[in-house]
Amino acid sequence: MTEAWTLGDDDDDLAGALSGPVRVRVPAKINLHLGVGPLRSDGYHELHTVYHAISVYDEVTARAGDTLSLTMQGEGVGELELDDSNLIIRAAHALAATAKVPAQARLHLRKTIPLAGGLAGGSADAAATLVALDALWGTGLGRDELARIAATLGSDVPFLLYGGTALGTGHGEAVSPVLARANRWHWVVAFADGGLSTPRVYGELDRMRAAGTAPAPLNSSDDLLSALRQRDPAVLGAALGNDLQAAALSLRPALADTLDVGDKAGALASLVSGSGPTCVFLARDEAHGADLAQALRESGLCRGVQQAYGAVHGARIG
Ligand code: ATP
Repeated sequence: MTEAWTLGDDDDDLAGALSGPVRVRVPAKINLHLGVGPLRSDGYHELHTVYHAISVYDEVTARAGDTLSLTMQGEGVGELELDDSNLIIRAAHALAATAKVPAQARLHLRKTIPLAGGLAGGSADAAATLVALDALWGTGLGRDELARIAATLGSDVPFLLYGGTALGTGHGEAVSPVLARANRWHWVVAFADGGLSTPRVYGELDRMRAAGTAPAPLNSSDDLLSALRQRDPAVLGAALGNDLQAAALSLRPALADTLDVGDKAGALASLVSGSGPTCVFLARDEAHGADLAQALRESGLCRGVQQAYGAVHGARIG
């Protein structure tokens, strides 16, 4: 049996204005396949990626207010600016401008997704804000219109509106559903100390490619897409790949030790998530995931270790 993932699945969430607080939960993403093409003249790299939403969540709550304000708790308190540079505030202004409503709301972020971790937490927060304020303000915009606004905020934002497993092209903003078995894949997520700047990791890949020290670019995602149509996690594990991994390891060599712990503990695949430094490990099942998580904790190399599963829905009220 195959599961079709359709755009607009959650349009029910969006009908009508809500008076009370609107709470939206949004997942982190990993890239099951991240193929990085050459640098384009507009400064972006051409990407061919397979996104996968996993059960590590941030939460954005929106309440009616006379001005636009943002508070937060959790990961990144004291580090993350809560001013106009924050993607949550940028998303609120972008939605208000499109919907022609005043940008007024009290927003609160509960953050679990680490900053600059390669899990697109900022993009996730932007997607959650669009969904929350769309409901609070009753803008009547559909998911497709929200996706158009999302694409102006960042390459990963449209995917995080939808979630699931999806192909991303262009610079990642053009998403289309992937037909996958209705299967739950089990992951272990290892958080590292500090973040890695995404532009810096891309820059390092460009440098390595120019110097001839980068590994060969990934082939097409055909093997991965075929693996997603099967139920065997070992087949999926063999098909995972990330062109940014070598660059992330070059900037943060200690991550190789973390990957090694996963490999030695029997992970079906160990890889850097996106631009890193978070690493993800594929397990056979939940019990195997618990064993891998234990080995990673005992290694003392990680700031935190969490079991997760995918694919999960994108930004959703509730
Ligand atoms: P990406 O791969 O999309 O760059 P990432 O997971 O590596 O994602 P994020 O945590 O999404 O990194 O954010 C990268 C930068 O974006 C942060 O260092 C921060 O300066 C900025 N930013 C703005 N708003 C947010 C937000 N709400 N949460 C996290 N980062 C934010």
